[in-house]
Amino acid sequence: MAEAGKLDRVIVIKGPEESERLEVTGEDLMERVVSLAKRRGIIFQSSEIYGGLRSSWDYGHYGVLFKNNVKSQWWHSMVTVRDDIVGLDAAIIMSPKVWEASGHLESFTDPLVDCRECKQRFRADQIKDLSRCPSCGARGSLTEARQFNLMFKTYLGPVEDEASVAYLRPETAQGIFVDYELVMETTRKKPPFGIAQIGKAFRNEITPGNFTYRTREFEQMELEYFVKPEEASQWFDYWVEERLRWYKSLGIAEQHLRTRPHEQDELSHYSVATTDIEYLFPWGWGELEGIANRTDFDLKQHSKHSGRDLRYFDQERGEKYFLWVIEPSAGADRATLAFMIDAYREEKVRGERRVVLGLDKRLAPVKVAVLPLSKNPDLAPSAKEIAARLRPHMSTEYDETGSIGRRYRRQDEIGTPYCVTFDFDSLNDRAVTIRYRDSMAQERVPIEMLKARLEALLAGSDNGSELEEL
Ligand code: ATP
Repeated sequence: MAEAGKLDRVIVIKGPEESERLEVTGEDLMERVVSLAKRRGIIFQSSEIYGGLRSSWDYGHYGVLFKNNVKSQWWHSMVTVRDDIVGLDAAIIMSPKVWEASGHLESFTDPLVDCRECKQRFRADQIKDLSRCPSCGARGSLTEARQFNLMFKTYLGPVEDEASVAYLRPETAQGIFVDYELVMETTRKKPPFGIAQIGKAFRNEITPGNFTYRTREFEQMELEYFVKPEEASQWFDYWVEERLRWYKSLGIAEQHLRTRPHEQDELSHYSVATTDIEYLFPWGWGELEGIANRTDFDLKQHSKHSGRDLRYFDQERGEKYFLWVIEPSAGADRATLAFMIDAYREEKVRGERRVVLGLDKRLAPVKVAVLPLSKNPDLAPSAKEIAARLRPHMSTEYDETGSIGRRYRRQDEIGTPYCVTFDFDSLNDRAVTIRYRDSMAQERVPIEMLKARLEALLAGSDNGSELEEL
């Protein structure tokens, strides 16, 4: 975790003149991103009409499309294009015995300290100097650290007693371990193979914050990759590289990513090696994903506690043994936030400021916006018809409200890579203009070729930089 308040991230607001370049601090950048997220209904405070709930955020229309794209890109790279990984969607509420076996009941804790003066609570491992309160500055006011279990507890059924206690899962991984044998058999997989899952996880975090970076309810994208013990360290290295490549391939700048191996005393109770992939958030470096070598810890524990032999029978060797597990565990919300921050740009165009979310096309919530030049009754119906024809093939939006310039800006702000404009000439030449988000270049295309042209653009790397800006 990065130090709170550390501002080592700068964005440059681009202008045509050198004098128009403006550097903003990380704090300022974060404010701009949060404000954009709210302004465009991407992500905003949950329960806002009741004053909001700290650390709970809702994804509006563009937000849910955006986060779904992040998740489907993960699924595509992990499951769809691979023969060695299959999917799972396990229940959130599992047998409480799972959490006893996994060690979460005993060890899934954070050290909690209270300030006797200002009554605030902190995670002791996030405070550099425990002799003074990081909030009010009082000396010697912090209590001794006590271990606080992060799992949310609830009761199944109407009676609230010890026998009905259950937990909301704090990670999706355990669903994979307890189902591993059945999934392996029904999909006829042999090691090395993996099981991937995306789903909600819940942690009663002591200090949620930094927008969607740390919340109490979040989504994880986890892979458990089962390997022969002697191959574990090689697969660990492979997954660190592979996951780093994924973030880069979807547009995160290389200099904003780094890997950080954990120190021995930082490792979770199940891990012999962990490397985090970190992103340079506006407040400093923070974890996006952890890749852990979980050894045979989980399968062994579940064998012991359930009485079921979860060892793998290796036919070639004629022996049974526990497989080891390499786990790349990512957060869908953190990844979405990082993609959004990294894509945020401001530019000066003809004296006006434009905000652009330069998202990779695959992540953009809307792929194409169809805009009639004006609300003129000769233009709108044809533009609507074009939008309707594109809609089944790509995420399409129709917009006729406001000036054309304002509508372009609105699409730039949500990262729409292409706008299609239907103007008066279109009535005669049956052609429309495609306007590129990044270069603002424009291209005239016959309506009958539009779908094919957009599909080619969305599949390729053409950003219109070769075209004339009209
Ligand atoms: P941190 O050190 O930031 O608390 P962690 O090491 O406990 O994270 P893991 O248990 O490795 O996190 O979880 C895997 C991933 O799940 C993280 O890399 C992160 O992307 C995501 N994640 C974990 N906790 C949260 C949270 N409270 N809010 C949002 N995402 C989270």
